Amino acid sequence: MIRRLLHTIRKSYEPKALVLMYHRVAELETDAWRLAVKPQNFEEQLQVLSRSWRVVPLAELVGDLTHHRLRRNSVAITFDDGYEDNYLAARPLLEKYNVPATFFICSGNIGSRTEFWWDELEHLILSTEVLPHTLDMWINQAQINFDLGTEQHLTEALKKKQQEWMAFVQEPPTLRSILYLKLWEQLKPLPGHLQQAYLQQIKVWAGVSGAPRAAYQSMNLEQLQDLARNSLFDIGAHTVSHPDLASLSPSAQQQELVGCKSFLEKAISREVTLLAYPYGSCNQETVRLAAEAGFQAAVITQDYPVHPTSARYKLGRFLVDDWSGKQLDACIKSWLTIKANAHAHYAA
Ligand SMILES: [Zn+2]
Repeated sequence: MIRRLLHTIRKSYEPKALVLMYHRVAELETDAWRLAVKPQNFEEQLQVLSRSWRVVPLAELVGDLTHHRLRRNSVAITFDDGYEDNYLAARPLLEKYNVPATFFICSGNIGSRTEFWWDELEHLILSTEVLPHTLDMWINQAQINFDLGTEQHLTEALKKKQQEWMAFVQEPPTLRSILYLKLWEQLKPLPGHLQQAYLQQIKVWAGVSGAPRAAYQSMNLEQLQDLARNSLFDIGAHTVSHPDLASLSPSAQQQELVGCKSFLEKAISREVTLLAYPYGSCNQETVRLAAEAGFQAAVITQDYPVHPTSARYKLGRFLVDDWSGKQLDACIKSWLTIKANAHAHYAA
């Protein structure tokens, strides 16, 4: 009894740190996966972070963890995917407040104008003004047969419901969002070329032929290199094509990890030692391959704090929503009380 009590007390005094997960600093029409924080809120969040918390580079936090000297209230900031707004909107604010951050880059999209598949799908299904009444298509072995009923035409009421939807914690509130999620689940495990082929079919069905949207682009090579020149910032790997790694063969996983790492190292002339698994998806093989490829740590998308016994290749992260500085501060305080077994999955 006393031993257990002492153990509990000791545990509660263990230093804990947090890794925050951002994707975009932007204002979006719909954002089912809560990827974007508005610039004004991001600035407020940085004010709170720099004033009240010990913001450290993720590499430093990993070093502290490795050397058993994790410091209480350390917070590391990370960005996933490599959207251009990381360079245009997040970077200047991080520089203004002298706050370090790590950017996990999906190397296959650098310099390409292609949107990420989840953005394009969301736009097609949730924002197209008029869609055909029914969709009937096969994706791999699955038949999608869907009747949009009264939601063929996008109304203000539908828009509002969809804008408020948080796909990872709430049931889809409209038929359109149910269809979006069905298609998302079918497309997620597929290789990039098949995702693009099916998206093309959906585009034809939706009668949409627009060019990729500039606001959804990734950074180009010069922007990535410029970002990496500032010692405040670190570049990490997020694979070549953003696959669901756990569903790939070991050799395909290795190509994704090594291909991204070597592209980035060549581009920025710096060693890349940190990795974020897309969708947080990894298995035992992924962890082994990450270590073998020379990564020193990897982050997932499950929300638990870093504590002295955290596994270095499965560090938890907390998704930061479009909150005010005050809201983020309150969240950080409550996150630091979370036990290591609570978790949730996020999109990208
Ligand atoms: Zn991602």
